[in-house]
Amino acid sequence: MIITRNLAELQEQIDLFRNQKRTIGFVPTMGALHQGHLSLIEASRLTTNVTVCSIFVNPAQFNDPKDFEKYPKTIDNDLAFLKEASTDLVFLPTVNDIYPGGFAHLEHYDLGYLETILEGHYRPGHFQGVCQVMSRLMQLVAPDDLFMGQKDYQQCMVISKLLHLLNMTAVRFHICPTVREEDGLAMSSRNLRLNDQERKRAIAISEALQYVKKEIHTGDLTNLEIQAASLLSSKGFKVDYFEIAKADNLELIHEWDGKTKLVALTAAFLNQVRLIDNMLLN
Ligand code: AMP
Repeated sequence: MIITRNLAELQEQIDLFRNQKRTIGFVPTMGALHQGHLSLIEASRLTTNVTVCSIFVNPAQFNDPKDFEKYPKTIDNDLAFLKEASTDLVFLPTVNDIYPGGFAHLEHYDLGYLETILEGHYRPGHFQGVCQVMSRLMQLVAPDDLFMGQKDYQQCMVISKLLHLLNMTAVRFHICPTVREEDGLAMSSRNLRLNDQERKRAIAISEALQYVKKEIHTGDLTNLEIQAASLLSSKGFKVDYFEIAKADNLELIHEWDGKTKLVALTAAFLNQVRLIDNMLLN
């Protein structure tokens, strides 16, 4: 496994892969890796000739500085994990590599409606930060295939839009299923910040999503959303949102025709830790 810490070395390696006519799969991460990340590496290995993984905790996508400071860092473990998973190249950029001009005059991406709802609403600027880091990484790595997780459903829609904005529509974008712990909790780097008691209570998120999946019915869905949010509140969560939306464009809906593909999405705090999850309903 090649580990590159600077741009020149990365470029050299990418050029080498290209000259060898090898297809490149890319898995961008913020580290603190778990089986969810590894499932993306695995999907890339099955699809492309070489797999590149980046680890970069992107300051621009954290709207809360405390969340950025407390973001788990387990780099030695991460590298061991990636090696075990037969990753070909790991890129560990510095802030300066990604933001050579600093943070003052960053590009603004027109994400329209997508940025006004759910995570976009509760984390102002978050998706702009995601687009900034992703456009830089996509230009540097220039992959044939990009692998991201359904766990971050709205982020996947934002990235689809970004690929269009960047004229990168030739990149094959793979959205991989959410990997869960045995009790249903979606794997997340932030789970490392839960204490034992919080970890036990955290399963309420997937339970609430499962409940909605089971109880979904045509007609008015407002009560179902309220019940799911109450279920979380009763377990000590502070709920940012629990919403049902059209799966293909995230238009929020409260009335179902029985046919439209739906996804339920939620974000909620357990004390200081904010968790998100989602589930396709039909
Ligand atoms: P992160 O390191 O949290 O920025 O995540 C890096 C990539 O891994 C993103 O595309 C996430 O959607 C994906 N990911 C995170 N958790 C999971 C999971 N439990 N299952 C599948 N993919 C995941």
